[in-house]
Parts: sequence; C-alpha cells; structure tokens
Amino acid sequence: MTLDIVGADLPVRLRSGATVRFAHLDYAASAPCARVAAEAVERLLPWYGSVHRGAGVRSGRSTLEYERARQAVGDFAGARAGDAVVFTRNTTDALNLLARALPPGTTTVVFDGEHHANLLPWPDPVRLPAPPDPDAAADLLDRALAGIAGPAVLAVTGASNVTGELWPVRRLADVARGYGARVVVDAAQLAPHRPVDMDALGADYLAFSGHKLYAPFGAGVLVGRADWLDAAEPYLRGGGASAAVGDRAGDVTWATGPARHEGGTPNLLGAASLAAVCEAIADADREALHAHERELLERLLAGLAAVPAAVPVSLFDPGHPRVGIVSVALPGHDVAAVAERLGADHGVGVRAGQFCAHPFTRRLAGVAAAPGGDCGTGPAALLRISFGLGSTGEDIDRAVAALAAETGGRRHDAA
Ligand code: PMP
Repeated sequence: MTLDIVGADLPVRLRSGATVRFAHLDYAASAPCARVAAEAVERLLPWYGSVHRGAGVRSGRSTLEYERARQAVGDFAGARAGDAVVFTRNTTDALNLLARALPPGTTTVVFDGEHHANLLPWPDPVRLPAPPDPDAAADLLDRALAGIAGPAVLAVTGASNVTGELWPVRRLADVARGYGARVVVDAAQLAPHRPVDMDALGADYLAFSGHKLYAPFGAGVLVGRADWLDAAEPYLRGGGASAAVGDRAGDVTWATGPARHEGGTPNLLGAASLAAVCEAIADADREALHAHERELLERLLAGLAAVPAAVPVSLFDPGHPRVGIVSVALPGHDVAAVAERLGADHGVGVRAGQFCAHPFTRRLAGVAAAPGGDCGTGPAALLRISFGLGSTGEDIDRAVAALAAETGGRRHDAA
C-alpha cells in the first residue's frame, strides 16, 4: 500500500503572475488526501447504497464495508474487546458525544492548553493552567483529582495543535487511574503522527478526525468503553438509533451498540476512506515516517533560528518532543498580513490566528487577553507551520525563505 498524497503537485498562481508548486504547510488544520483514501472512495462509488437499511446488493455491500471500516479504525486505535467504535463527523463531534454520555455528577478535568473541542464540550470542567513541565502537570492533576468526590474524567490532548508538543498522556493517565478517573485522549493531532494504542496511552476513550489523517472530510471516530455510551441517551435521535418506535409519543426502544449514537444514514465513504488510511499507516514503516518528520522538523527549526523576527513558541522545554507542528510569534508584525503574503506572493500555505485554542495561544503569544474571534478570524496571535506525509525539504525551505523575506530578512551570521 502506498501513502502517496493526492494533489501533491498542485500549481498556484502568485500575485506576481508566476506559477509555482503550492507548498501546503497547514496539515494541522486539514491534511491532504492519501491516494489510498481516494481509491477507497472510487472503489465504492459505483456500489454504495444505504448502510444497514435495504435488501439489495448495494445496501448489503455497503453494510459490510461500513462494519469492516469500523473494525479497521478500531484496530488502528488499539480498541479492546468490548470497546465501542462510534463513527462521528469529526473529533469535535466525538468529544461532544462523550460529554453528553457522562453519568450525572461526573467532574471533568482539563488543562487550558486544549483545543476548544476538548475544552468546551465538558459540562463545567475543572480547568487547570497548563504548566511548563510534565512533572508539574502531574502534580497539578493529582491535587485536582484529590479534591473531587464522585466520578471523574481527565480529558487531555495527545499532541498540541498549537505547539505540536506531545503531552505526557501516559503519565497523566497513571495519575488519573490512581483516583479511578477515566481518561479521554483527544488524538486529533496525535493520530496523524504517532501510534495511538489506547492501552499504551492509558486511554479509556480516544477521538480523532479523518480529515487530519489524510482522508477526506466528514468522518471521525470515538473509540472507548461501551458502558457509559450504552447507558446514555442517544446522541442523535432518529432512524438507526431507534430499535422500535410505538404508536404513542415517547414509546421508543433505543438501539444498543454504536448505532445508538449514529442516528441518520451513515457516512460510508467517510468511514471507508478513514479506514483505508488507518490500514495503510498500520502497514507502513512507522519508523521511516517518523524519521522523515523528524528531519523536516529539525530543518524547520534550524531555518527559523536564522529568522530573527520569528520566535517559535513552546510550553515545555524547547527539547520536548513534538510532531510536525511549529508556531511562531512575530513580535512587531501583523501576523495575519504576513501569512497572507506567504500565500499570495510565495505560494506557501500556513495558518495565522489562535487556532481554536484561544486561552493557550494568547498565553504563548504573550498578548493581552482579547475577547471574541473564532478559529482563524480572531486577533492573529501566532503563525503556524505544520506538515506530514508528502511534505518535502523544499516546502520547509520555501516557508523559511518566505518568512525571512516578509519579516526583514535572515540573521547575517546565518548560512
Ligand atoms: N483537537 C485538536 C487538538 C485539534 O487540532 C482539532 C482541529 N484543529 C480538533 C480537536 C477538532 O477537530 P475537528 O475540527 O476535526 O473536529
């Protein structure tokens, strides 16, 4: 199986009129599509029909393919016997579903380094300031959990969408387990870059999105312990979620298993393309993928070190491992305008903003708390460069050169 990217050679016309290859460096928002995902869609286009509804060959095959996809995505996540694998629209949807399924009286603990998708769905969470070292994070969590009576949940990211830093998930999960708390891992940024074995992570639940994992839009997943999900009210009420509906209002027997939360016609193409990527990554030489990413990361950090205006931000110490995501502050520059020029004048696609992680981004950027603004449209605080499969050293070099050109040049002593 190949992990080639579709559209890796996309041409883009610059403001000057020249045409160059587009350097896509916004993988953390949405990664490009892997060929295996496109092939999975193409394979099903002539065949698809309604999943779990219908007697004909199209419906039969669609049902088989959908359930096969569930198995493959569950395997990729290291789902254990008895774990539920629920297809959702994306990570946001998966975490909202779980938040609605918490037993009454459950307290959720989060750090403020989270993406809004893992900050906002939880009802009245205990929010801890993300400290600059993993030991302090573990201590802080320990103290918070010690003060909580009743069921507790830790919801933590696997890798930050702002700094790319890996969170000490296993360490925090061990603390949580000591208090009988369950652990939810937001793997939206982890899954595209690192193995996501739930046992190894110490996770009870894992959520991620297809569109950040080289599959097209529209499918994500929540994997995890079935008991709370089976006991919860259906997330989406409607066909598929209901096993039997009587004549009187309210006379409903809800489905059990993943169908309980997958009301409406399932997204077969989303599930199948996500599964195709999961299988291809599982079969790939992970060490080689990792080495490629590390090489690009080192090249980027070395390049940025020669651009005085660009200051990479991090929460933990600068040597802390990170995935292919680096954000820089550009003190004295209009970050959004620089990002716009990178796109229009250099054909380099990056992201400027607060990355749907407003509290964290503001803190890292050192700007005063500013109200309002949504993902990408708020006060532009940082500029993010993110990459993955199909990214090249040339992409990185072009981004660094463009940043230098748009912010006053390179350091004189730089190579
Ligand atoms: N968590 C993290 C860490 C993310 O980076 C994102 C997307 N930027 C999400 C959650 C939400 O993912 P989605 O938009 O696919 O729901």
